[in-house]
Amino acid sequence: MTNPIGKSSWILCVSGSGIANNHGVRDIIPSHFPANSVGIVLDDSDTEWLVFLPGQNQQFYINSEHLAEIDIYQTGKGFESKICNICFVLKPMDEFQVNQTDAKGRKTRRPSCNICRQDIDRRAIPSRERKLSQRLRPKKGTLWQCPICRKMGIVGVNVKVVADHDHYPGRWRGFLCDSCNTGLGRFKIGENFLRNAIAYLKEHEITN
Ligand SMILES: [Zn+2]
Ligand SMILES: [Zn+2]
Repeated sequence: MTNPIGKSSWILCVSGSGIANNHGVRDIIPSHFPANSVGIVLDDSDTEWLVFLPGQNQQFYINSEHLAEIDIYQTGKGFESKICNICFVLKPMDEFQVNQTDAKGRKTRRPSCNICRQDIDRRAIPSRERKLSQRLRPKKGTLWQCPICRKMGIVGVNVKVVADHDHYPGRWRGFLCDSCNTGLGRFKIGENFLRNAIAYLKEHEITN
């Protein structure tokens, strides 16, 4: 099995179909994926090339006539199209929301396309969970301690207390300081990122 990590043989899959390769076993019928998916060429020795599509996390045999060269450095800011960081589809700039405008007045766009972002935003928190967290929120002016970093603060004075929600089952978990809430959000708990982070730190721990 060829590992795509570390490779830079990028290709553009113009048509959205190919035959999936499941651990060396070819599917019988073709599968469909979004047209203009960007992938890594693993094998180009036949008329059908073996391509890994990160957006699908899957290898496909694709007819080389349906593949086109792509210069990944001619995409993104300042260019006409951009590769989404979730689906890895090359899309026109206007399919990415404007995030902010930088100091020079240039627009910065979100790294995920509008379709992929819809999936993120759809995981809303039910209102009963919101009401519950509002009722139990620590009182303003009281001494409070964050359950993660253990830092103490005066609520609403020198610490910002945030209601922490689990977006996957859609429920309220507890209260955290603003900093820990942002940190936890980056680790996307539902996806085991935090466990991976601990394993990574352990692996690189200096043992003496
Ligand atoms: Zn996308
Ligand atoms: Zn904290």
